[in-house]
Amino acid sequence: MQQWSQLSLTAKVLIGMVIGLSLGLVMRYATPGNTLVELYLVNGIFHVVGQIFLSALKMIVVPLVFTSIVCGACSLKDISTLGRLGGKTIALYLFTTFIAISMAMGVALLVAPGAGANLESATQFAARTAPSISEVIIGMFPSNPFEAMASGNTLQIIVFALLFGIAIAAAGKPARPVVEMFQALNEVMMKLVTLIMNLAPYGVLSLMATLFYTMDLAAIGNLIQYFLVVAGVLVLQVLVTYCSLLKMTTGLSPKIFLTKMQDAIMFAFSTASSNATIPVTMEAVTRRMGVKNEIASFTIPLGSTINMDGTAIMQGVATVFIAQAFGVDLAINDYLMVIVTATLASIGTAGVPGVGLIMLAMVLQQVGLPLEGIALIMGVDRLLDMIRTAVNITGDSVVTCIVAKSENNIDLDVFNDIHAGDTEENIDFHHIVKEDQTVSA
Ligand code: ASP
Repeated sequence: MQQWSQLSLTAKVLIGMVIGLSLGLVMRYATPGNTLVELYLVNGIFHVVGQIFLSALKMIVVPLVFTSIVCGACSLKDISTLGRLGGKTIALYLFTTFIAISMAMGVALLVAPGAGANLESATQFAARTAPSISEVIIGMFPSNPFEAMASGNTLQIIVFALLFGIAIAAAGKPARPVVEMFQALNEVMMKLVTLIMNLAPYGVLSLMATLFYTMDLAAIGNLIQYFLVVAGVLVLQVLVTYCSLLKMTTGLSPKIFLTKMQDAIMFAFSTASSNATIPVTMEAVTRRMGVKNEIASFTIPLGSTINMDGTAIMQGVATVFIAQAFGVDLAINDYLMVIVTATLASIGTAGVPGVGLIMLAMVLQQVGLPLEGIALIMGVDRLLDMIRTAVNITGDSVVTCIVAKSENNIDLDVFNDIHAGDTEENIDFHHIVKEDQTVSA
């Protein structure tokens, strides 16, 4: 036990993940259909612990995003900084998504994972139509900020928090207590993140055990080529696109970057939700990499909402795969159309599990591919969702580092210190106890 408490959080989460995955598979194959196992373990303890952990993560997203953006916005020097920041961030997000989808389609065309396949299915899948640009822009402005928070509408929360923060800054001296209150609240939120992250090894273990017990693994056999192409391009996106972009634009070490991303990547993998991972991604880029809150508070929630490079990769490969499987020949302008639509679809994809697959309907519809193609790849989507979510949040973090470096808003000593941020893993209650004793004395 002593040794367990000395391990780093990353190691503990990794151990939890491996144990959970193995337990899930053991329960599945050693005790198939056993009602006791299903009742007390899968739907009992693992389900309860896993869901509590997920809810705890989601619970802090809205207050964390709101307080950190307000803090960030009220410490901005002027409004033009915000415009510049927003412009750079969105341009980089679009650029990385464009690279992701182009690479995905290129590799899929080369490997041809769907060629010769006759995987027809009669299952129908409901299509979604793309919202118009004006609808998207109007939809970003909340008519009721409390409703936006209650429904977890990240874009609306970002807009309200930015305006609120700017108003605090504009109000000047009388608003000083509000600034201090938000700064204190922000500290409290980060402590809450640390507290919840300490539960991660058990939460991740439970999520993995339930998932690998229930996941349709047989489908992978049929779709192995598709699976491998998507997974391969996802890895390429991280190792080639992100690492070279980071190195070339900032000179920062990709190796240190990836080491510091480990926790966030594992959280994204286990939750398959960029949104639920926001607290951990924020912690990684601010405390571990030294990016200032002014930048990260804005770029991370925004990225978790509009930047989905991993999802775009899945959509690119899936489109080519479905076209090949159904024997549809796509022309060059169809491919261009896929690039544009998948980039837009990635903006509209919410950072929650499985939405990428629903948005794929929009892409397929654009080029007249059968929507039932989605049913073909559904069986392997959960596992791919976990991997692509990890890529999605890594993309957000790379862009955050690039923007922060270009704005001189990153502490390079923290970035280069391999242990920076590690000490925050333990919550220290001593000072509370001491103060209590002083009061009662
Ligand atoms: N699960 C992904 C995310 O949260 C979205 C998706 O591709 O379904 O980033």
